[in-house]
Amino acid sequence: MADLVFSRFGRRSLLGAAALAVLGGCTAPARAPLRTPTAPVGLAAALRDALAARDQAAFTACFTAGARTLGTAWFVTWTRLAEVDLTDADGAFAVTWRVGAEPESSRAELTLTLAGGLVDAVAAATPAPVWLRHACAVATNGPLGVLAATGEADPWLDAAGTAAARVGDAGASRWGWQGDLVVEVAADALEFRHRAAGADVGAAAAYTTRDPQPVVVVDGTAAQAWTAEDRAGLLTHEGVHAAQGTLRDRLPRWLGEGVAEWVTRPLWPAGAAADAAALAGLPAEVGLPADAEFTDPAAAAGAYARAELAVAGLVAAYGRDRVWDWLPAWAASGIDEHEATALLHAERARRG
Ligand SMILES: [Zn+2]
Repeated sequence: MADLVFSRFGRRSLLGAAALAVLGGCTAPARAPLRTPTAPVGLAAALRDALAARDQAAFTACFTAGARTLGTAWFVTWTRLAEVDLTDADGAFAVTWRVGAEPESSRAELTLTLAGGLVDAVAAATPAPVWLRHACAVATNGPLGVLAATGEADPWLDAAGTAAARVGDAGASRWGWQGDLVVEVAADALEFRHRAAGADVGAAAAYTTRDPQPVVVVDGTAAQAWTAEDRAGLLTHEGVHAAQGTLRDRLPRWLGEGVAEWVTRPLWPAGAAADAAALAGLPAEVGLPADAEFTDPAAAAGAYARAELAVAGLVAAYGRDRVWDWLPAWAASGIDEHEATALLHAERARRG
């Protein structure tokens, strides 16, 4: 069953002496019984050594014939990452990994099925790392990174660069953002959802998680129909969330979404048009969106549009930087829902 977790993770020490005893490789002893434990001591060490030596043959020798494709995919992706560390301590096989210049590592615990000491399969997992069953393309440029199970990383790196510049211009450094933006492109809609455990995906084609590193996750299938402008627009919205990081958890939902929409709206005509169309169907007195509206396909467009209006009203009343500086301790701003609703109405009237 699903047995993969991401958690805050400091580097672990490498394997101890017990593991070193079987460093020679993964080939099972002739009479080894078939076993299906979580992981044998030594597997991680053998895989790690093969990775360090960039020895694909030694690496895939740790997989059964039926799982060689999986082994090849892991070898290809892992040799492209900035950091990969493997451990099989405490009965769990864990991968610590990092894309490009990401300041934080992520950790995935994998449930392996072994045959004769070799990897025979990996269990489905939610959330699943985007590389779980695919050789991923990796592209990085300073604090920008892309990990693409679709094999198409460079167009996303371009879009991430555009988005990160916009997010920076929008004053995100006021929240402590350092300019990093990492995008993961899932192979298809199913894997997008598997990648998304705990996140609120709904009908969206992208979202932001932190594990602990904030990353934008994109549905690679849906994205095939997107123009470069759409990609940059989507990453701008999600990039604002990535820049908000953990402070987003402390904000009312309308505020976190409204800030992302307010930054994105002037830069993405298709998004602005969608907001305008959604508003046209709503009565003038409608106020702040409730949290549930953001995940209701019938209500979401109107919810985002109203959230953007409310933030635009706040910015008009107080100035962007002052509003941004309030975000880490929003309650201290003294702005209640009554005032935010009035500002939303004023902004809507101003736009006609
Ligand atoms: Zn959002």
